[in-house]
Amino acid sequence: MTFDIITIFPEFFTSILEHGLLKRATAAGHAAIRLHDLRDYTDDRHRTVDDRPFGGGPGMVFKPEPIYRAVEALRSEVQEKNFPVILLSPQGRLLTQAVAEELSQAAHLVLICGRYEGVDERVAENLATDEISIGDFVLSGGELPAAVLMEATIRLLPGVLGNEESREQDSFAVPAGAAAEVRHGLLDCPHYTRPAEFRNWKVPEVLLSGDHEQIRQWRRRRALEKTWRRRPDLLAQVPLSAEDRQWLESLRT
Ligand code: SAH
Repeated sequence: MTFDIITIFPEFFTSILEHGLLKRATAAGHAAIRLHDLRDYTDDRHRTVDDRPFGGGPGMVFKPEPIYRAVEALRSEVQEKNFPVILLSPQGRLLTQAVAEELSQAAHLVLICGRYEGVDERVAENLATDEISIGDFVLSGGELPAAVLMEATIRLLPGVLGNEESREQDSFAVPAGAAAEVRHGLLDCPHYTRPAEFRNWKVPEVLLSGDHEQIRQWRRRRALEKTWRRRPDLLAQVPLSAEDRQWLESLRT
């Protein structure tokens, strides 16, 4: 999977590309991340990417031409020209695990990182095929959101995660064999490691029992309970067994 990132701060990505998952995935060839300096697509001496907003007001706005040029240069390079062009924006649709799943099916994504007051609206209207937000808050640039989107997406690519980080159990993971309309799973169950007792807090006994069926049941119940308490909105979409329903019923009473 190839990511082309259009940014005025390509160096911003240096550290995340040199650590952990993104480093491994790019080294192993699962993903390629190419950084493009928006200023390389300007045509004036000062390499101007922004200008004052029409109508007045504070701040600066990214001009459309350099962004158009950058995307068109990428399009001229590749055979498959219908790749998604994603503008990172607090006004976009919310990035969720389901959206990350959807993005992970693409072979090529272009990510546009805004700055300042944002990007000339004609980019959102006519160039971007999608606008994505990483949450209902405002950051100063699209670089962190682009990094978040890439990590969430790349860890879903086949072969990227080792066994020890299996994602089937992760929060939001769609259960194996679920119907196509199921978009999310439960929150993950709690995890513990040694020591079995830390400052008087003991690890739940059942986890030390070696009884796999008991442990499975305990984990399922804790995941259901956490989801019910914190994210009842997720519960509504998850396929539940009779045993699950009984447990939830017992929590409610
Ligand atoms: N004035 C704009 C915010 C601009 S923030 C507004 O209120 O909608 C500057 C840039 O940071 C944006 O262009 C976008 O690329 C990025 N950005 C800020 N918050 C974001 C978020 N929650 N999700 C994705 N991108 C974000």
